[in-house]
Amino acid sequence: MKNDYISEIHEKDKLILHPYEDLKFRGTYNRKLIIKSDNIYLYDEDGKRYIDGPGGMWCNNIGHGNKEIGEAIKKQIEKMDYCSPFSESTEVAAELASVLSDLSPGDLNTVFFTSDGSTANETALRFVMYYNNLLGKREKKHIITRDRAYHGSTYLTGSVTGKDREKNNFDFEENFIHHLGSPNPYRRKENQSEQEFCDEKVKEFEDKILEIGPNKVAAYIAEPVLASGGCIIPPKNYIKRFWEICKKYDVLYISDEVVTGFGRLGYFFCSQEEFGIIPDIITTAKGLTSGYIPLGAALISDKLIKNISKESSFFFHGFTYSGHPASCAAALKNIEILKRDKILEHVIEIAPYFHEKLKELYAIPIVGDVRGMGLMAGVECVIDKKSKNPLLLDQAIASRIDQESLKLGLIIRPIYHICVLSPALIITKEQIDDLVDKLFQAITNATKKLEEEGLWSG
Ligand code: PLP
Repeated sequence: MKNDYISEIHEKDKLILHPYEDLKFRGTYNRKLIIKSDNIYLYDEDGKRYIDGPGGMWCNNIGHGNKEIGEAIKKQIEKMDYCSPFSESTEVAAELASVLSDLSPGDLNTVFFTSDGSTANETALRFVMYYNNLLGKREKKHIITRDRAYHGSTYLTGSVTGKDREKNNFDFEENFIHHLGSPNPYRRKENQSEQEFCDEKVKEFEDKILEIGPNKVAAYIAEPVLASGGCIIPPKNYIKRFWEICKKYDVLYISDEVVTGFGRLGYFFCSQEEFGIIPDIITTAKGLTSGYIPLGAALISDKLIKNISKESSFFFHGFTYSGHPASCAAALKNIEILKRDKILEHVIEIAPYFHEKLKELYAIPIVGDVRGMGLMAGVECVIDKKSKNPLLLDQAIASRIDQESLKLGLIIRPIYHICVLSPALIITKEQIDDLVDKLFQAITNATKKLEEEGLWSG
């Protein structure tokens, strides 16, 4: 398919400032064009097939190329394309709100539709501030978050994000945002048990609330599993203990399920089913439509809404595409497929195989930690397994592994010195074998090259 048309597209593509692009190299190279998608695979301009290891951006839950979703979107747009969510509503938005309220835990029955995950988290954070203002608690504005968290790319969600490299040359809100350490058990102190590590993290949280003053702390925001921070699985009971502390000090708990929702861990929402908590707000996006079309939502506890509904006050917050009919139609069909094809059950059944197979990577000298939950995984690379010193900067190891993987027909998501994976939830055992075998080869090849360049010695 390499022809004039493709060359032309490459030239036009250089007009785009892509997300996370290095300005220095912008326009100096051809990005891979993805022309076709199907099942767990993507196909480039040469017809080469790749396993989509990250499932797009943790969002391709039901697999690529599902015609039913396309049909549902088409049908909705032909019947009714769009009307203003600020003044009217639609059948599909109402239906989806009802389905989400049934799927979500506790009394999280109030649904605010957004355009994506960032706007879902922005909504949750703005709602919390608005809520406390209406209650006359104008000082209760501080938000606690964590290093390595990712919550979005708006000003406020970027501020509660805790990835150092993303702080590069951007401005952030600093006056009322506080970051705790990341809960990565692999990075705990030598001789510290996982339980002690958890106790330390809980103490850090409680101390932070007391330092700021509970009357000033509005909310804590957290992904159950830190996704793009490197697939970090917090220690056992950590999530529940944080939730209990929130309740003790009247701090609202925002559970960012943008990645973990809609089957990634085997549940529609994992906050309660996997971690035993009922947050005050859950945010969702990505897997809600399996990434076929943008949509997000913030699910808010009825109790909160009731507390502020006594006086008239407009909630002056909304998006042109809040509850877009095409997106809601896609989400309804996506949920129908997840249920009908028992995809969540498949995740519960196949996830142990996925993690067992990934353990084979420990045979490679630079693989320090292989971790995961459901169909999420992270492979952390280190100089040596004892010091756990990460392979970073000069070695840019995850990017090197990514380059090697591409040659073998596998796309991974390189983050720092960690490779993360979140394939489509329909992946089979044979496809898992193929994915892990390719990754094994790619890490081995990247290690060899490091050695040849004198950047690493076993
Ligand atoms: N929250 C989490 C946990 C995410 O991983 C992401 C995106 O990767 C977001 C929020 C932001 O979602 P979006 O990119 O749809 O705005």
